[in-house]
Amino acid sequence: MEGRGKLRSIEELCDAVRSAERVRIIGSARRSGFLPSWDGAILSLSSLSGVIAHDVADQVVEVWAGTGVQELQEELGRHGQCLPLASGVPLAVSQQYGTVGGLLATNLPHALSAQCGGPRDWTLGMTVVRTDGTIAKCGSKAVKSVAGYDAHKLFVGSRGTLCAIAKVILRTLPTRALPDHQVELFGSDEPKFVARTLRTDYESTKASAGRLVAADPASCTIWGLDEPPLPVGAWMLGPRGAIKRQEQPNNLEASSRTVFDPGGKLAPGWQE
Ligand SMILES: Cc1cc2nc3c(=O)[nH]c(=O)nc-3n(C[C@H](O)[C@H](O)[C@H](O)COP(=O)(O)OP(=O)(O)OC[C@H]3O[C@@H](n4cnc5c(N)ncnc54)[C@H](O)[C@@H]3O)c2cc1C
Repeated sequence: MEGRGKLRSIEELCDAVRSAERVRIIGSARRSGFLPSWDGAILSLSSLSGVIAHDVADQVVEVWAGTGVQELQEELGRHGQCLPLASGVPLAVSQQYGTVGGLLATNLPHALSAQCGGPRDWTLGMTVVRTDGTIAKCGSKAVKSVAGYDAHKLFVGSRGTLCAIAKVILRTLPTRALPDHQVELFGSDEPKFVARTLRTDYESTKASAGRLVAADPASCTIWGLDEPPLPVGAWMLGPRGAIKRQEQPNNLEASSRTVFDPGGKLAPGWQE
């Protein structure tokens, strides 16, 4: 927590979460523009970093959540592997930084989403610290695991609202197998809005979306500087964590918080 010094172990993380009254979990805070304002305590996991184990033959890597995405890509690259994020596509000025935990917890679209899936697809398992300070593990290094619940799928995209992600097990891809992306680039500004539409509405939404930064016809995703119009079935994430969805309310998020953070300890990750 700010003022407590850097975390050096998962035990220190457990203590910090257990003793916190209300707290926002962060990695390196590169995505704070997409989060609601928060004046309370902050707990950064960026010092819990490093590769724990990389099974090159099985294409599976376990890392501390505070590991830099760039640092992990460089380490995997030494073995001809990577996480399938297209480098050189300026979807965010901050993309050279940020942690693996932040990447998973935000679960935003990226340039190869349509071709290679997203962080939820690459995540095989996690070790997390729950709001009462206890450690929980889910998933495993096996790509096909049948034991227990796939709770890590729920934690991907949970934006720091359900637990602190301490370690993650990820599937990697051979770099030579990376497909070409189809993203059209219109500028290099940091996007303020990310929106995804149904395929039938993609072209019309893009045409009326104002100033565009990028657009991906393969995943029907639009990154821009102005709030786009939202047809039925679309969603949008904007400044300060503003989320709009033209669909039925998602009760899973509310019910997950009731189970994993009954005391409301963790900072909100978005505002409807
Ligand atoms: C080459 C490259 C390409 C990239 N391409 C993309 C891209 O196309 N799209 C994209 O979205 N990102 C991309 N990234 C990654 C991105 O820039 C950041 O890594 C990440 O999105 C934010 O990390 P952060 O640590 O700054 O998160 P923060 O801003 O600190 O946190 C973001 C959210 O995650 C939560 N969070 C952070 N850490 C944890 C944790 N350990 N446990 C629980 N919750 C946590 C926070 O509460 C917050 O809600 C790329 C990175 C690289 C290096």
